[in-house]
Amino acid sequence: MTFGRDEHVWIPESDLEGMSVDTLAVRAGQIRTGQLEHSDAIFPTSSFVYGSAAQAAARFGGEEPGNIYSRFTNPTVQAFEARIAAMEGGERGVATASGMAAILSTCMSLLKSGDHVICSRGVFGTTNVLFQKYMARFGVETSFVSLTNTDEWKAEIRPATRMLFLETPSNPLCEVADLAALSAIARENDALLVVDNCFCTPVLQRPLEQGADIVIHSATKYLDGQGRCVGGVVVGPARYLDEIYGFIRSAGPTMSPFNAWVFQKGLETLPIRMRAHCDNALELALWLEQQDCVEKVYYAGLQSHPQHELAKKQQDGFGGVLSFLVRGGREQAWKFIDATRMISITANLGDVKTTITHPATTTHGRLSPEDKARAGITENLIRLSVGIESIKDLKTDLDRGFQALKD
Ligand SMILES: *Cc1c(COP(=O)(O)O)cnc(C)c1O
Repeated sequence: MTFGRDEHVWIPESDLEGMSVDTLAVRAGQIRTGQLEHSDAIFPTSSFVYGSAAQAAARFGGEEPGNIYSRFTNPTVQAFEARIAAMEGGERGVATASGMAAILSTCMSLLKSGDHVICSRGVFGTTNVLFQKYMARFGVETSFVSLTNTDEWKAEIRPATRMLFLETPSNPLCEVADLAALSAIARENDALLVVDNCFCTPVLQRPLEQGADIVIHSATKYLDGQGRCVGGVVVGPARYLDEIYGFIRSAGPTMSPFNAWVFQKGLETLPIRMRAHCDNALELALWLEQQDCVEKVYYAGLQSHPQHELAKKQQDGFGGVLSFLVRGGREQAWKFIDATRMISITANLGDVKTTITHPATTTHGRLSPEDKARAGITENLIRLSVGIESIKDLKTDLDRGFQALKD
């Protein structure tokens, strides 16, 4: 970390080498001002001043590193970037105003007209819109393939293929992509493997270690974990991230210092939160599987999940999102959802508070009936983003749903 040595003391990167993700979450990217504060300071300033006209010229000319303007760099934003980059095992991180801004900035920086992208079919709805509607307008064509069928990815490769984009595990059916196999396909064909690691976070999965070129996050979800801010970040080697940084500096989807500070503090509790999410989700998945009114449970932690072994190998936990089918259709699913009292009815996920949603009419409501059928988004599907409340109270609340189905 070369930035800001004059003004701030950084914990040297060499001291962090070999530390586990739990330690990096609380120690990496920490800055201290002359006040020697223990908790991270926040720098809500749009611009910076110089000691002299000559220093201003040197900063603008790039001869002297340091801050100029917060669309370019800001110490709080850089502290968050350094921390998440260390946790993902990436050379550089660049923060953005939202998760979508992270995906857009990656595409705008690394793709050009005439390039081809292969994307997994189950990606976040707005990611789909970004590729199909907007990137297409700039001459970037996208093919959509099954997340889990590696042969489909191989078959779609063309000379112009420049990027493979995916989310694993998928939302809401928890399908798991084979990162090693897909990274080999990307490498053989000179394409970049870009992984949206929103569902696992670096605590459960570090795609760069498994051959991905770039990792993207919607920080809005687990990185914050308490539903306060919208933000995103991209992590990877400097040769790509310098390009992405250049785009953000010019185009302006910068993260605000306040949001960066919230995310930086959020990361400190991420490892213990993720473990609590995983423990609760696995216990609920096993419990749901035993209910008469449940037809099927989708969670990679279950033996019954088709990619259970792959998830065990590739991830350090199965995550906090699961979904299940109740017997019946929309009426029964809505009845179940409406009978819960503590759990929040909202499409948001990755929060310490458990949320419940009906994908067919919310997150995936825009899909055509054929696309819904193909994606497995049926009317009796319910998604839970399992929070960190007591498992006993979660079961009590979900049991209200089962009682309502029996009435
Ligand atoms: C929410 C989400 C996004 C978009 O992030 P925003 O912060 O809402 O822009 C992208 N990918 C995944 C997997 C998400 O869940």
